[in-house]
Amino acid sequence: MDLSKHRIIIEGKTKIIYENPGDPNTVYMKFKDDITAGDGVKHDVIEGKALVDWKTNRDIFEFLNRKGIRTHYVESPAECVSLVKKLDFKINLEVVSRRVAAGSILKWGGIAEGTRFDPVITQFHYKDDPLHDPMLDDTYVEYIIKAKEGGEMFREMREINTEVFALLEAAFAAFTIQLLDFKLEYGLIGGVVTLIDEISGGSFRLWPYAKENPDLTKKNVLSELDPGARLDKDTYRQGESLDQVQSKFEQIAKITAGFKGL
Ligand code: 5GP
Repeated sequence: MDLSKHRIIIEGKTKIIYENPGDPNTVYMKFKDDITAGDGVKHDVIEGKALVDWKTNRDIFEFLNRKGIRTHYVESPAECVSLVKKLDFKINLEVVSRRVAAGSILKWGGIAEGTRFDPVITQFHYKDDPLHDPMLDDTYVEYIIKAKEGGEMFREMREINTEVFALLEAAFAAFTIQLLDFKLEYGLIGGVVTLIDEISGGSFRLWPYAKENPDLTKKNVLSELDPGARLDKDTYRQGESLDQVQSKFEQIAKITAGFKGL
């Protein structure tokens, strides 16, 4: 599919959004081979990454649409290209949900790696690379939720994040993998809070089970999981070779291909 003659609406770190001249209510989202970390400070290009991210994203969004989650995703008409609904408004937040403590929460939470959160915790980050996506104060979020203006939006994002987490956690569990955390983004479409953006290898942490019947109800599940076999972008953040990173993202795409049967 040749999008080169279509007008570019916006180009981000990992995707380009093109106008769809055939339908003003949708846009094309084209995946790029670029990978970034550390708020864009670390940057590489991995040939073939766009294709695997596109497959993972397609299989996850089709799964979520089937489960009745309100998303922007329509279809994937060609390799590396998805058709999505046009936004009225992009909510400039990253909404992170966590089941198991890893990553940034270890730095400021005083929490041991592997600590299990039940229920899942959800945090809102203001999306701004130079400010390193600062987390919104919880009392502020609660204030906003109670206030009339905009409060409903925060409540809905938290609800959708929790619902999507439960769906994806169960889906990965079917492949003996624990979903530790993920980051989702939202926009308004027809005035309604809707899941947008991409969900692919860089959006979540995935650790395979370390044993056949792990006890995932423990307060700390580190011994039940195998972080050394992680399947996620931490491989890249921790400086492993780009081939290794691509091979992990290919493994994720193979797993999410199995979501068709769920
Ligand atoms: P952490 O805050 O621990 O670094 O990240 C929590 C979760 O959100 C992880 O699954 C991580 O991959 C994801 N995440 C956090 N920030 C970003 C971001 O800027 N882009 C993407 N794609 N994922 C992020």
